Amino acid sequence: MSRILIVEDEESFSDPLSYLLEKEGFEVTVAADGNEALSVFERDSADLILLDLMLPGMSGTEVCRQVRQRSNVPVIMLTAKDSEIDKVVGLELGADDYVTKPFSLDEVVARIRAVLRRTASLDDDDAAVLRVDDLELDDDAHEVRRGGEVVELSPTEFKLLRYLMMNPNRVLSKAQILDHVWEYDFNGDASIVESYISYLRRKIDPHSSEPLIQTKRGFGYMLKADRTS
Ligand code: CA
Repeated sequence: MSRILIVEDEESFSDPLSYLLEKEGFEVTVAADGNEALSVFERDSADLILLDLMLPGMSGTEVCRQVRQRSNVPVIMLTAKDSEIDKVVGLELGADDYVTKPFSLDEVVARIRAVLRRTASLDDDDAAVLRVDDLELDDDAHEVRRGGEVVELSPTEFKLLRYLMMNPNRVLSKAQILDHVWEYDFNGDASIVESYISYLRRKIDPHSSEPLIQTKRGFGYMLKADRTS
């Protein structure tokens, strides 16, 4: 059972979220401020921390900094609406993901699962193979298979597919894809993402009537999965 530490002072948010997470089988602790969060984490540890940036007293960014000095526990930041600065600061401090308010509880649960899956596959050598339907990506062998057949990919196509496979059924914007797959100082525009998505489609979705890589017009792309592991 994974243990989640929620750091949030607003009960109107933390109450329904912890109820839902417990229903989903997680063990949940709520801390209402940064000092409480750090002492709970020292005492009980956690498998993942959901950290609001807007806290009374010590700020969420300071909590994240202090947690990072002690541990590599995955951190998902809850940031204010449309605040690019929060997002950048959070990721620079070593947060693993962020969710922008307002969001649905289901979205938060999906992010938690995705981050836990991602960190588990980094920790566990046996889980170095990502699977989405009949598509497999083997990190160690640097090999991709669709329905058992090896698909040859360039290094960038491999990185792009890996990022999509780590976030199945989640729409990823072109900007997010650029950030994760290309270097941060990459000066190109997002049209390069469109080009690489089309290369990747030709290789992994050549004949399917229901392609795995779907375009969400005006938003970005999503890898549609019925089964993942
Ligand atoms: Ca708050």
